[in-house]
Amino acid sequence: MNVIETKALLLYTAEKMMASEPTLTELDLKIGDGDHGLGMLRGFTAVRDLLQSESFEPKDIGDLFLTAGTKMMSSMGGASGAIFGTLFRAGGKAIAGENEFNASVLARFLAAGSSAVFTRGGAKPGDKTMVDALVAAEKQAEKVSNEELNKALLSVAKAAEDGAESTRNQVAVFGRAKSLGERSLGYVDPGAVSMSLIIKYMAEFVNQ
Ligand code: ADP
Ligand code: MG
Repeated sequence: MNVIETKALLLYTAEKMMASEPTLTELDLKIGDGDHGLGMLRGFTAVRDLLQSESFEPKDIGDLFLTAGTKMMSSMGGASGAIFGTLFRAGGKAIAGENEFNASVLARFLAAGSSAVFTRGGAKPGDKTMVDALVAAEKQAEKVSNEELNKALLSVAKAAEDGAESTRNQVAVFGRAKSLGERSLGYVDPGAVSMSLIIKYMAEFVNQ
């Protein structure tokens, strides 16, 4: 996919994430303070506005993701603003100069993004955060980095979804859910669901 097509992929993803606000709000009300859906809505509205603005002409795929990440970071607020902003910014930086979005570029984006998120927030897999979905996605992307993007994204989306679902049986040790301790058991982490939805919508776009 070239830069223009990848811009369309990100626009589709942003609009779908905006529409996911009620789902994410409901999940964060169970184990957090209920603001995750609105944060995501704010962040992806800013990304959508960026992508629709005629003056935004990203140099390459890396610049596209980096600029989207900067928008998220400045608009979302909360823990997830910093975390998802970091993912897109660091992931984008790692693929600077790329003019084609393919499975190998996706793998590099996720690997660099994941390592920056860890540096920023310190959460490891098993801590019941978006990291559980992100690391699952990163590992699968590495495995399928030689495949066609549409096939690769389907399997990466499945891995991310499984990673998000795995948070149901975890006790939160980060963020606001931490204060719930054992009572966070039985509920999936809202940020992990957001992470898996972002990849799901990317997969949907390239497969339709
Ligand atoms: P807040 O916790 O400030 O209310 P949000 O509700 O927007 O922020 O986001 C909560 C989500 O942020 C959690 O579901 C979790 O996935 C993610 N999160 C929180 N802390 C961390 C961290 N240290 N590393 C990675 N993700 C985190
Ligand atoms: Mg919250």
